[in-house]
Amino acid sequence: MQIKTAKFVVSNQLVSKCPTNQLPEYAFIGRSNVGKSSLINMLTNQKSLAKTSGRPGKTQLINHFIINDNWFLVDLPGYGYARVSKSAKKTFQKFITAYFRDRKQLVSAFVLVDIRHKPLPVDLAFMQWLGEHNVPFSIVFTKADKLRPKAIEDHIDTYKTILLESWEAFPNYFITSSTNYAGKEALLEYIDTINSDLDSSASE
Ligand code: GDP
Repeated sequence: MQIKTAKFVVSNQLVSKCPTNQLPEYAFIGRSNVGKSSLINMLTNQKSLAKTSGRPGKTQLINHFIINDNWFLVDLPGYGYARVSKSAKKTFQKFITAYFRDRKQLVSAFVLVDIRHKPLPVDLAFMQWLGEHNVPFSIVFTKADKLRPKAIEDHIDTYKTILLESWEAFPNYFITSSTNYAGKEALLEYIDTINSDLDSSASE
């Protein structure tokens, strides 16, 4: 899929204030500094559509972007950072979980993890929560340019071993780099295929 247009629509904390039309949407989430803004900008061919954050936890909002006028890319706040006060943390957890529970238009989430790190409890707990709430998701490994191919393989194997202790199957995953564009085509094709399937089932 070629992204021809990517436009900011609205930011807010309430699912009830999210766009009301029925376009399919895909949500991007991960720990702060995982490379989410860079990935969104890379996918959409923009320099600063998503704001790369100097200060973790700055933007605790649900951000909707409309892509090619036919689907929404949703940029969710990073989770699991230390610098947010306890009450702020509570609020964003609540609205993030409300978003995943209540947003009917959500087709799939992309959970971003830094490929250099071992699976972190906060990421595993979040994936577990998505699974328990029947939210489909893929894992997006970021910053793949920082590792050699063999190390990438090893790190993914570690993830597989750990996740398969409690999951029946390893989720769909992408290996990406915002620096060298790795994974861009695969991820966009994945979204495009789902959108086409949704289109054809809607017209049946
Ligand atoms: P966010 O907080 O998850 O939105 O993360 P950012 O996109 O702001 O990125 C955090 C830091 O990681 C920045 O210094 C980026 O330049 C760097 N970064 C993000 N993606 C990549 C990548 O694919 N490769 C490399 N080498 N660095 C990256």
